[in-house]
Amino acid sequence: MKTNNLGYPRIGSNRELKKASELYWAGKISADELLEVGKNIRKENWQLQAKSGIDLIPSNDFSFYDQVLDLTLTLGAIPNRYSEIAKTNSALDLYFAMARGSQKEGQDVVAMEMTKWFDTNYHYIVPEFTKNQKFELFSTKIINEFVESKKLGITTKPVLIGPVTYLLLGKEKEEGFHRIDLIEKLLPVYFEILNALQNEGAEHIQLDEPFLALNLTDKERDAITYVYNEISKNFPSLKIILANYFDCFGENLETVLALPVHTLHLDLVRCSSQLDDILDSGKLANNVNLSLGVVDGRNIWKNDFKKSLATIKKATDALGKDRILIAPSCSLIHSPCDLDLETNDATLTPEIKQWLAFAKQKIEEIVLLQNFALDEVSLVDSVSFEQNTIANENRKTSKLIHNEGVKNRVASITNGDDKRRNLFAIRRFKQIEALKLPLFPTTTIGSFPQTTEVRSWRAKFKKGELSQKQYDDLLQKETEETIRFQEETGIDVLVHGEFERNDMVEYFGEQLDGFTFTKNGWVQSYGSRCVKPPVIYGDVSRPNPMTVRWAEFAQSLTPKWVKGMLTGPVTILQWSFVRNDQPRSETCTQIALAIRDEVVDLEKAGIKIIQIDEPAIREGLPLRKEEWANYLDWAIKAFRISASGVKDDTQIHTHMCYSEFNDIIQNIADMDADVITIECSRSQMELLDVFADFKYPNEIGPGVYDIHSPRVPSNEEMVHLLEKAASVIPVNQLWVNPDCGLKTRHWDETKKALIEMVAAAQQMRVSVENIATV
Ligand code: GLN
Ligand code: ZN
Repeated sequence: MKTNNLGYPRIGSNRELKKASELYWAGKISADELLEVGKNIRKENWQLQAKSGIDLIPSNDFSFYDQVLDLTLTLGAIPNRYSEIAKTNSALDLYFAMARGSQKEGQDVVAMEMTKWFDTNYHYIVPEFTKNQKFELFSTKIINEFVESKKLGITTKPVLIGPVTYLLLGKEKEEGFHRIDLIEKLLPVYFEILNALQNEGAEHIQLDEPFLALNLTDKERDAITYVYNEISKNFPSLKIILANYFDCFGENLETVLALPVHTLHLDLVRCSSQLDDILDSGKLANNVNLSLGVVDGRNIWKNDFKKSLATIKKATDALGKDRILIAPSCSLIHSPCDLDLETNDATLTPEIKQWLAFAKQKIEEIVLLQNFALDEVSLVDSVSFEQNTIANENRKTSKLIHNEGVKNRVASITNGDDKRRNLFAIRRFKQIEALKLPLFPTTTIGSFPQTTEVRSWRAKFKKGELSQKQYDDLLQKETEETIRFQEETGIDVLVHGEFERNDMVEYFGEQLDGFTFTKNGWVQSYGSRCVKPPVIYGDVSRPNPMTVRWAEFAQSLTPKWVKGMLTGPVTILQWSFVRNDQPRSETCTQIALAIRDEVVDLEKAGIKIIQIDEPAIREGLPLRKEEWANYLDWAIKAFRISASGVKDDTQIHTHMCYSEFNDIIQNIADMDADVITIECSRSQMELLDVFADFKYPNEIGPGVYDIHSPRVPSNEEMVHLLEKAASVIPVNQLWVNPDCGLKTRHWDETKKALIEMVAAAQQMRVSVENIATV
């Protein structure tokens, strides 16, 4: 029985890689200095795992930006627009140009697209393929890193994204072919890599094929069969570990069980039934081993040893100990690095801390599980086992976690609680009467520029250099100026600007019971960007109003409507580490009730328009289509619970950042927000396609300009977009707004853009009136 790690965080336990990369991009350190930081991180990671007792230690899990981009470079799939850069720059700078774009010395090349890695919050760089795509071994990173580890006395297991998954992760950049058709051209380069690794003495190779967790076409499944048979034919002595994670194999299981591989890795956290499915099928070949992913690679909870050992026992009873490997469910890059660095007892109390395990602790858990399973350490005498049992028992019963009031409230939710008092058709008339807004009402999505100054106030306040009163005064002044600016510009529905918020989830988490925060629990999101998700450890409740004060203050400054601004339950859930001792739907419902109370309090305070942001609702969709309906059912219900406590003439808005909701448009409509504002200025055609077929029943604000760019759009551009929108959506349903919050923008461009936007709305009103009079 071996221990098998799939990947280790590469950001460094103090985010050394982030800091060094950013210094390098700013021209403040040399390439050699950056390379050295990378080398040290790899060495530390390998030595830590070796010392802990991991048998199969991954290499090539390190990356300066992204592992998919590493592979794109390895395979020489470099898009044409980088060919000039490739000629005149180092491979490292070419790599960063592909990741981030490059604007220097007259060159101006855009970056490759970035998108989410399956259902995680990690983003990868999307490969681009052409019909005549060529592949060639361009970078030998994977081989170099294997040799590097060998020099340290550690024979690692090189990790590589499998060829089918690599192709499926990409996009066709021209018509007339499907990327999976490239498989025969691609495979020879993989062979070259495998050959080189074998020559250097590699024994195990991990090939990640997480697309096996998705609904594949026959052709894609055939590609899997073809690839792994070819590899086995050509490399009979390489031990191929085929890794799937994030969900079950589903209908791909049969195909997978017929593959001539050395080991199959299973994610038993996301798919606990997979082991039984395989054992019961009787179709696992005698010479195929199983790597049991029992330690959660994506969440921060301590493993439950009793439960894991029962799973391991089931497998060893059936197959024998030699055929079993103990592993994390997926690569640990989705976990923070080291719990030992959490020393702030006040926020992360010792009681909560004992329930947690970060990457380093997960490595220890994997080795302990192996020791117990091999009877090398007797359970009865083991302090570690006892501590694990105590911590898990404590968590089951802790007063910190369990709040009867919250549980009862969730249990007594009735059918009507997720419904507004009346249908939109009726609410609409009441809102028209109460709000008296013009046609094409203008608004923004919530945040205004978070300048360095605003952020410095918060930093000083946290350090105690500003008193609460001084800090509040500064925020009030900024809010007031923002209100005045919106009034002068002629915006119809104002916002307070969100200057008091650090982050749209953290701000609420800090005020809700059941949440805590780490000091150093960083996880890579993309490139050098890391996030530090809040930890939801217990029943969620709202001891006090969270936003009423700022909304009330802003409303007191102006006779125009100020929109209250909240983050919705699904987004709060999606961007946190969520407790695993109850279904996610249950936790989401608890958050929904807390937000509902806030909505009702805002209404009581005289706020007539309230926006509940749900930018993450689409990314919560499960990987397998057959699970969508269940997710959408509880997620949409949670939103509705949060929104439905108010009177008919209180207008509920929501905001979403993805326009790609063609396939869930009915569910979006089912949210029954009175107004939805969405991002679509970058993909207007897609949006319009949806509305050509689907009659969206409520009001809608398709974003008329892209806030992710500093570019100031012209009035004409926005009129053009609005005219397009008006051709598929009735004009009395349309709102005019940017496509997302403005917090990353500067004031000068924001002001110019919003002035243009208001002018565009006015022009639309005039042309509609003209049509009416004609
Ligand atoms: N109200 C938030 C803001 O304006 C919404 C952010 C988002 O959609 N991601 O910043
Ligand atoms: Zn947004």
